[in-house]
Amino acid sequence: MENDLALRRIVIVGGGTAGWMAAAPLAQQFMRGSGERCEILLVESPDIGTVGVGEATLPPIRFYNRALGIEGADFVRKTQGSFKLGIEFKDWGHLGHRFFHGFGDFGPAVDGRSAFMHWLRLNEQGEMPSYEDWSTATQLARANRFTPPQGEAPSPSASYSFAYHFDASLYAAYLRDYAVQRGTQRIEGTIVEVEQRPEDGFVAAVKLADGRRIEGDLFIDCSGFRALLIEGTMKAGYEDWSALLPCNSALAVPTRRVEPLTPYTTSTAREAGWQWRIPLQHRTGNGHVYCNGFISDERAEAILMQGLDAPALASPRPLRFTAGRRRQSWIKNVVAVGLAGGFLEPLESTSIQLIMDAVGRLIQYFPDRSFAPQLAAEFNRKMALQYESIRDFIVLHYKLTRRDDSEFWRYCAAMPIPDTLAHQIELFRASGRVAILDPEGFAEPSWVSLLLGLGVLPRGHDPLADRVPLDQLRQHFERVRQAITQTVAGTPDHAAYLERHAKAAPLA
Ligand code: FAD
Repeated sequence: MENDLALRRIVIVGGGTAGWMAAAPLAQQFMRGSGERCEILLVESPDIGTVGVGEATLPPIRFYNRALGIEGADFVRKTQGSFKLGIEFKDWGHLGHRFFHGFGDFGPAVDGRSAFMHWLRLNEQGEMPSYEDWSTATQLARANRFTPPQGEAPSPSASYSFAYHFDASLYAAYLRDYAVQRGTQRIEGTIVEVEQRPEDGFVAAVKLADGRRIEGDLFIDCSGFRALLIEGTMKAGYEDWSALLPCNSALAVPTRRVEPLTPYTTSTAREAGWQWRIPLQHRTGNGHVYCNGFISDERAEAILMQGLDAPALASPRPLRFTAGRRRQSWIKNVVAVGLAGGFLEPLESTSIQLIMDAVGRLIQYFPDRSFAPQLAAEFNRKMALQYESIRDFIVLHYKLTRRDDSEFWRYCAAMPIPDTLAHQIELFRASGRVAILDPEGFAEPSWVSLLLGLGVLPRGHDPLADRVPLDQLRQHFERVRQAITQTVAGTPDHAAYLERHAKAAPLA
């Protein structure tokens, strides 16, 4: 039987990355099947710009693209993109210190116990080189090489993953074309008023500056830091995490492309924050994320400019933010996606992931016009868990620093942390085990990379790993090492791979 309470119109407020990332899969859903179509309208202001940053991603973006039928090479070409095997961290643990958070695992389990546990056991005997030697992603990145994984796991040539770097404005335009071709109506206008139904407070319509009135059943708030509907109208409230993540400012600046074109993001810790470097085909994206309570904006700009490896192509663009999340992302018929729902600084490129997962969850718990409150409750529960788990992962980078060369780093090392993170660190320190708060979030290899990279070496290992004879283990690791070496040797240079498979046309 048809559901006569089916949504008839969805209004997306905002045309930044979040707005178009929400529009594309919804448009695709409603293209399919018969029956009455639900209209999708997206309102974007010609006067209020997008945040225009957000150029590094995490591997699951490939599932998002695949679900939309987007082909990887076409996507990279049209967004001036490049490939990302992970993040190189410089000067985080201490000055001169480097480690790599590579995507993928660290090779096959042995006798049912993870490779990491066996590595710990051999490491205790003083026999093992760095753990990074067993990450194919890390080894490929260090050699500036890239090809998509080949073959079948657990082979090292298949046991890594990758994400993309892209130009944020080209990405939004790419998804806009996708969504508009599938029936999304784009409306240019600035919302000046939100009209609520007197009987229950649901949003009935938004009014534009030119007098137009746009009604809808469901409103997706993608209005960025303004949070026009979720905060302005619904008063969701904001959980402020700036005591844990004190960075509240950023300066973003593009520079000319330089060689080699690295297949990874670089994050370099600075006096009161850190600097990103994201290589694209037509330019490099750079930015300095910092806390203006510890350094002035002028000093932050000077640090950024001194740290560039090529001439700047524009003046640095300032941004301000407060780390945290909306207490509720879904209230009545308003769902916040993107910066309207919260912001965790871009250290691990998690914002686009949060957008993707929010849109996926909205489709999973898609409402009809009765808006069962349980759907919103489940959506909010999962969003909260995801935000908290990512928060812990990012706070870890700061908390485990051994830097004491500035007031900022001394603050970070001394700050109290959430119980969930304290437990994570102590569990790992005692036993090498990882507690996963959010099963959909960063997996064990990522936590291990970070904890080991920042200098936490477990005191013990899984006793069940001791059943494997040491000689057998040594042979196993040697075989894996040889396979990784062969994989790296047989992989093309990143720039050469792009040139051959996904070369972007010069921008007009
Ligand atoms: P916005 O881009 O701000 O878009 C808001 C939209 O709402 C605009 O279209 C605007 O016109 C519209 N709007 C607002 N008010 C009105 C109104 N009254 N009427 C009509 N329309 C209105 N994420 C990553 O995943 N990786 C990264 O590397 C990364 N780096 C970042 C670096 C920095 C410094 C910052 C601040 C963020 C970074 N992010 C990153 C986050 C990422 O940029 C955002 O998650 C993403 O761009 C989504 O933004 P948005 O669409 O929510 O908001």
